[in-house]
Amino acid sequence: MKLIRIGPPGAEKPGLLAANGERVDASGFGEDWDETFFGADGLARLSRWAADHLAAARRVPDSERLGPPIARPSKIICIGLNYADHARETGAKVPREPVLFFKATTALSGPDDDVVLPRDSSKTDWEVELAIVMGARARYVSPEDAPGFVAGYALHNDYSEREHQLEHGGQWVKGKSADTFAPLGPFLATPDEVGDVQKLGLWLSVNGESRQKGNTSNMVFGVPQLVSYVSRFMTLLPGDVISTGTPPGVGLGLDPPVFLKAGDVVECGIEKLGQQRQRIVPSIE
Ligand code: ZN
Repeated sequence: MKLIRIGPPGAEKPGLLAANGERVDASGFGEDWDETFFGADGLARLSRWAADHLAAARRVPDSERLGPPIARPSKIICIGLNYADHARETGAKVPREPVLFFKATTALSGPDDDVVLPRDSSKTDWEVELAIVMGARARYVSPEDAPGFVAGYALHNDYSEREHQLEHGGQWVKGKSADTFAPLGPFLATPDEVGDVQKLGLWLSVNGESRQKGNTSNMVFGVPQLVSYVSRFMTLLPGDVISTGTPPGVGLGLDPPVFLKAGDVVECGIEKLGQQRQRIVPSIE
């Protein structure tokens, strides 16, 4: 299944993407794609509902906004430096254990929403990433068992203000958490839709110029290892997001570095997980 959410920010309705690409209103199912849904075997129940009701459910025009494919989760956890060639381009060592940082959940936005530059931003950067969405409560999970705790996967652009991230001391969270800095979607794909999650090409372009090209096969730590590792340090709740790091080609790694400005257009995609398009707009405050 491919889960979507449709409608204005904060008032999205749940939906499904049909096999023919049509957007279908799944409001009749009566639940949003949130912690309660995932934690109560929602995907299996939704699959049964879809078998009976999808054909007759309302079709939604492509002109309607797509929101993030899940309701705001309890956590967005990001993995840093998880592609060896990306670590090198930023001048960092390949880590011995996964680097974890948080992104504020208020940064979540739709896949094609405008990205609003933070006030006084001079170094806003892009990072195309594979995001894991948790399907069950997970604590001290082994890598072998980890796949059973995953609801599915989505495309994520981990926007990062490098000055806020790196020049104000303390943790990276400052540069990762601005509103609109976590476009997710267009859809959440269940694992059966994705196949081998460690064999997906990912790409990103800015104003039509290719900037990032990679493959999830080059991750330092793969999906099962990451889920297991994070669950050693905190309880993962259904619907939580783990973003698995970015391949090389970020603006910070270019010589000289290149950062985003109002008017730029960023497009990215991952095989099997669709595409996003964001327009960069000036700070509104
Ligand atoms: Zn990242």
